[in-house]
Amino acid sequence: MRSKIVAGNWKMNQTLLEGKDLAQNIKDQEKDIPENVKTVIIPPFIHLSEISKVLESSSIKLGAQNCADEETGAYTGEVSAQMIQSTGAQYVIIGHSERRAYFYEDDKTLLKKLKLAIKHDLYPILCCGESLKDRENNQHFEVVSKQLNNSIFELEPLSFSRVIIAYEPVWAIGTGKTATPEIAQEMHNHIRNLVQENYTDEAAKEKVILYGGSCKPSNAMELFKQPDIDGGLIGGASLKPNDFLEICKSFPKT
Ligand code: PEP
Repeated sequence: MRSKIVAGNWKMNQTLLEGKDLAQNIKDQEKDIPENVKTVIIPPFIHLSEISKVLESSSIKLGAQNCADEETGAYTGEVSAQMIQSTGAQYVIIGHSERRAYFYEDDKTLLKKLKLAIKHDLYPILCCGESLKDRENNQHFEVVSKQLNNSIFELEPLSFSRVIIAYEPVWAIGTGKTATPEIAQEMHNHIRNLVQENYTDEAAKEKVILYGGSCKPSNAMELFKQPDIDGGLIGGASLKPNDFLEICKSFPKT
């Protein structure tokens, strides 16, 4: 059985006080989240250690939004995988489309980040997804395949097994325009087939693939019902505790 995961990416939002309140609010309602759903909150780096304390004695996990592609040293402003791990965080987003677009992160850099995250016992959440232009040109499968071939599919099987994949069509992120469940399922199935081709049937069966892009309480259930969608990476809605919790409760009963 694959894990069901809902991860909330707060992006560059929330002061420390606001972030602690938001984390506390989610923690206070944790009992409403089904036991088989793993919940991860992903605040800005600077809040990690304080929010880690808020989440003590909770099953809610903590993650970071990025990590450096170097181990340590003279890289002003960067935050290493080891530093993230030392705060109590267990997850890290790698290759979010905003990092790819605004900070020019390429697949080669992302592979370095993935290796460092894994070396420091983090679970990377590797994002992939096509732009609107790619989809209009019918190149969406090709683009996503290339992103994966050049990054996670370079990993040896044990490392690969730690990585969670998040399919996030760029045209759906922060736009209010969600992929239909059919469109999302079609790509998730494509990704799972690629995992099978590059690794094994077992690896494909076990790989957790999240959907991200304007996921909210009103569409989460339809998305999470799809056979190859194992949960969501949530942006905007993760800043509203009630919406985030509703999404965490949106898995079909098994
Ligand atoms: C994201 O940033 O990963 C995301 C999915 O954002 P939103 O839910 O706001 O579209």
